[in-house]
Amino acid sequence: MATDPRDNLVAWLRDAHAMEEQAITMLNSQLKRLEHYPALKARIGQHIDETKRQEQVLQACLDRVGGGSSSLKDAAGKLTAMAQGMSGVFASDEVVKGSLASYTFEHMEIASYRILIAAAEAVGDAQTKAACERILAEEIAMADWLSDHMDDITRQFLSRDEAGLTAKR
Ligand code: MG
Ligand code: FE
Repeated sequence: MATDPRDNLVAWLRDAHAMEEQAITMLNSQLKRLEHYPALKARIGQHIDETKRQEQVLQACLDRVGGGSSSLKDAAGKLTAMAQGMSGVFASDEVVKGSLASYTFEHMEIASYRILIAAAEAVGDAQTKAACERILAEEIAMADWLSDHMDDITRQFLSRDEAGLTAKR
């Protein structure tokens, strides 16, 4: 059974749109809860703004390629359980678990946009390719920031926890 590559591109755009909706939910819950990690909180706030734009850009791509929106809720539901399981909101080390989840999520996003860029290129959709390249750069920047600050966040958590201060958020 033959599949038009464009149909795969549309399906992957829908998945990415659902992924970004989930990202907004996850990042917002982290932002609300963080108190003692101002640098992390500020970077998450910046990435929420970026993520909201990404969601709009993907919706515009879907509208343009005729992907509609009827399947968006289904796709979002598939990712919800996984993201909630990773979020670590109720863990005693939630800032550490949250950083781990965010680092993992950003790398899932990076892979998703690399796939979309290759698919958009394969079908000759230059607009989708360019949009996904711009989003990919933001995901890489967020992943790099988390990578650069993971040690620091861990040390801050350990020293606060050792001193009997609120460490988890
Ligand atoms: Mg994103
Ligand atoms: Fe992201």
